[in-house]
Amino acid sequence: FDLTGKAAIVTGGGSGIGAAIVQRFRAAGAQVLVADISPRAEALAEQWGCAFRRTDVGNPAEMAALCEEAVTRFGGLDIMVNNAGIAAAAPLADADEARSQRFWRVHILGVQAGIRHAAAHMTAGGAIVNISSITAVRGFLQWGEYAATKAGIISLTQTAAVEYGPRGIRVNCIAPGIIDTPLAMDEAPDMVARNANVFTLLGRIGRPEELAAAVHFMASDDASYVTGQTLLVDGGWSTG
Ligand code: NAD
Repeated sequence: FDLTGKAAIVTGGGSGIGAAIVQRFRAAGAQVLVADISPRAEALAEQWGCAFRRTDVGNPAEMAALCEEAVTRFGGLDIMVNNAGIAAAAPLADADEARSQRFWRVHILGVQAGIRHAAAHMTAGGAIVNISSITAVRGFLQWGEYAATKAGIISLTQTAAVEYGPRGIRVNCIAPGIIDTPLAMDEAPDMVARNANVFTLLGRIGRPEELAAAVHFMASDDASYVTGQTLLVDGGWSTG
């Protein structure tokens, strides 16, 4: 899917799925502004020929400044990928207010700010892709606090698609199953070991590149009649 001449922002672009999206966008011809809270991402962005802005997606003022920087640098903004996320597993019996608020801040406030500040600059239409999770659509032991906010991302996607559709802005969502990234390997080793190879229809966890391919389609003009949708990229886990 050709992205020549497109300007994109990818949040959480310094690791895992975000890093694969950034590299795929670059290969397709887009200019990319990488946003990440980790300073480690700056050197990677430079290596990939991208701009970088250190951003905490949970801070709406920083998200506004991020989107303004894309317009200043690239002359506009065509694609916004709200990918940054955090993970931690705990049973609901041990739900912790501070941890729940961290999830809400990064996943809900972050995606909400990413949608509205990006859309404000998409004067000639655009594409927004949000990253949810398979945990949003079915129950998993110990993922309640995380999953609730990931379900909220599907809801935000639907509302945004309704509100921004008339302006030619498409808003879609990709919900990954288990993907081989630091987040999954560090925070969900039990889920990876016990479940992924058994319950996915393809018998394996996914690769970041396989997620990036779906995001790439949703972000491109090839998806010009797709909006408000959530695509599960989970090796069939949600079906089997
Ligand atoms: P990762 O930990 O490899 O990368 C996440 C990136 O987001 C990191 O670079 C991190 O620094 C950045 N980040 C975290 N908090 C941030 C903040 N407040 N502001 C800006 N950047 C921030 O994780 P990943 O697996 O690549 O996850 C990417 C997205 O995919 C997340 O939204 C995650 O919830 C989702 N997801 C991942 C899996 C999986 O199995 N890996 C499954 C379902 C959903």
